[in-house]
Parts: sequence; C-alpha cells; structure tokens
Amino acid sequence: MALRNIRTMGDECLTKVCKEVNEINKRTKILIEDMIDTMYEANGVGLAAPQVGILKRIVVIDVGDGPIVMVNPVILETSGEQTGDEGCLSVPGKGGTVTRPNYVKAKAFDENMEEFEIEGTELLARAICHECDHLDGHLYVEKVEGELRDVKYDEDEE
Ligand code: ZN
Repeated sequence: MALRNIRTMGDECLTKVCKEVNEINKRTKILIEDMIDTMYEANGVGLAAPQVGILKRIVVIDVGDGPIVMVNPVILETSGEQTGDEGCLSVPGKGGTVTRPNYVKAKAFDENMEEFEIEGTELLARAICHECDHLDGHLYVEKVEGELRDVKYDEDEE
C-alpha cells in the first residue's frame, strides 16, 4: 500500500486536460492501487489521477459498494437533477451546494482494459460527474451555488 500526495486547489495539475490511457502497464496498475489506497485513507468517495499529479484519464470511486476503477471514462447519458452538498479532497475543509444530474450512464475501461458501462443515481451519479470534471481540469467550486462553506470534521468519526 502506498499513499500519494493529494494536490490541492492552486496546483496546476488540477487545471489541465488529462491524456487518454492507451495501455495499462505495471506502472498504471500501481497508480490505480495507490489511488484507491489514497482515497480510502482520506475518506473520499472518489479520486482522479490529476489529484495525485498524474495527468491521465483515470478515476476511482467508492460510494460504499466497493471500488470502481474508470479508465478513459465517457459520460453517455444524464437525466434529472439533484442539488446537494459536495466536497473534494483537493479542496480540504470546504463544501458547497452543487446541482448535478440525478442519473448518469457512462462507459469506461477497467484496470484490465476491459470496456464496461455503468449506470448510477444520486451519490454515484454525482461522483462520476465530479471525477470526470477533474479529467478536464475542472473543480466543483466552479459550480457551487452561493458560498463555499467551511466544513468541520469530526475527528472521532471513522
Ligand atoms: Zn474532487
């Protein structure tokens, strides 16, 4: 298990358009494993490669049902709307209200370069949109309605 340093807002890696992944090699597999470890360690529900300084189109998500690895994700379809709180590991201590689609259908490749489709609603739909935005150099703070708020963390919480 290896943890990577999470870049925070202001780091230029978070503003770049990431490159497509052509092949999954040993280094890519290690990156994906490290991203999953880093996401869990930080109690995040998702992490995109640029957040750890790698400008590749890779995201990992876990909304509570186990890790989902998405390489070269593409959102195919969205519908509905949800308005709720959102945060980002690259914007620590902050949160804000963002409206996202309530349903998302996407395609991506897994860590073995097998293509798959995924459908998600609510938190999963929100996470897919949020993480895919990272791959194009966008942060959720651009979409916040009203003020970015300070979020208190309960240190005793798991
Ligand atoms: Zn984020």
